[in-house]
Amino acid sequence: MALDRSTIWPYEDGEPGDFFYSRYDHPTGVEAERALGELDRGHALLFSSGSAAATAAVLGLLSPGQAIALAEGCYYGTALIFRELERWGVRFIEFDQTGPPPEGVDLVWLEAPSNPFLTFPDMEAAGAHPARVLVDATASTPVLFRPLEHGADFVLHSATKYLAGHHDALAGVLVFASEEERERVKGFRGRTGPIAAPDTAWLVLRGLKTLEVRVRRQSESALELARRLDAHPAVERIRYPGLGDELAARSMSGGFGGLLSFDVVGDARRVESSTRLIVNATSLGGVDSVLETRHRWEGDRVPENLIRLSVGLEDVDALWTDLEQALG
Ligand code: PLP
Repeated sequence: MALDRSTIWPYEDGEPGDFFYSRYDHPTGVEAERALGELDRGHALLFSSGSAAATAAVLGLLSPGQAIALAEGCYYGTALIFRELERWGVRFIEFDQTGPPPEGVDLVWLEAPSNPFLTFPDMEAAGAHPARVLVDATASTPVLFRPLEHGADFVLHSATKYLAGHHDALAGVLVFASEEERERVKGFRGRTGPIAAPDTAWLVLRGLKTLEVRVRRQSESALELARRLDAHPAVERIRYPGLGDELAARSMSGGFGGLLSFDVVGDARRVESSTRLIVNATSLGGVDSVLETRHRWEGDRVPENLIRLSVGLEDVDALWTDLEQALG
C-alpha cells in the first residue's frame, strides 16, 4: 500500500471527490478500515488512539443523562475517560462482567479479556440485556474472538497493541455491526478530528500482515509461561483465560492471547526491575515482551504484588530463564 500523506486532494470537475481533506478520510485510512472491518466482520473506523475511539463512542452514541455499565477490573483508563465525561452528563456504574449487567443502563461496556485481571465477559448475559453492547477486544484481537459474532453491537481495539504490534504506532479502532451507526460516528470524527494519521494507518496495515502468526505464537508462549509460573513457589496466583478450568483449557489448547498477570510472593517491584530480556515498561501486544506492576498506575484496585506480562515473540525458554532468575 502506497503511503499518501496529503491533507488535500484536487476537486474533480469542481466538486469534492472521495478524498478532499484528510480530517474526514484519507486513502491509507480507508484501506486500513477495509482490512479491519473484514477481520471483525463489521464496519470499521480508525482513530488516533484507543482512548480517542472510546471517547468518540461515548460522545457519538450516547446523550446526557444516559448511563454505561462498565466491566469492573477492565483497562483503568476507560473508567478515567468516563469520569471525565461525567461532567457532560454521562453516568457509569461498574459491574462483574462474568454475570448479567445491571438494569437501567443504555450501553454495556465489556472487555475480552479484561486488562489486567483477564476475566472473560458473559456474552449471553450481555446479549439478553436490552442495552447495546460494546466489547473492548484489544487483548483477544479478531484472531481469537470476534464479538460481533456473539451479539455485540460495537468492538473497540487499542490498535496500539496487537494490531499494529511493534510498539511504534498509537491508534484505535471502532467496528460497528450497523453501517448507519458507523456513518453517525464517522460524522462526529470528521467534525472533531481524532482520525489516525496516514503514517499510523500504514503501520497498522503493516502490522495486520503478521497479526495471525504473532497472536498464535504469543498465545502458545503465554500458555506455556502461565503453566510454569503456576507451578513456581514464588508465584501466589496466575491469571490467564482458561487456566485452572480444565474444559476451557482444552478448548484453548493453543493458549488464549499473549497477556497474563501473576501475583508474586514478596516484592513485585524488585521482580519487575530484575528482568534482563523482558523490558520493564508499560503497554502490551508488541513483538517484544514487557512487564510491569499495575499497582503503580491503578492504586488499590489492583493487588500490590500483581505483575502484568505481555508475551512477545522471543524464544519461550529464554523468557522462562529470565522470569525464573527475576523471581529468584
Ligand atoms: N483498551 C485497552 C484494553 C487497553 O489496554 C488500552 C491501553 O492500554 C486502551 C483501551 C487505550 O488505548 P490507547 O492507549 O491506544 O489510547
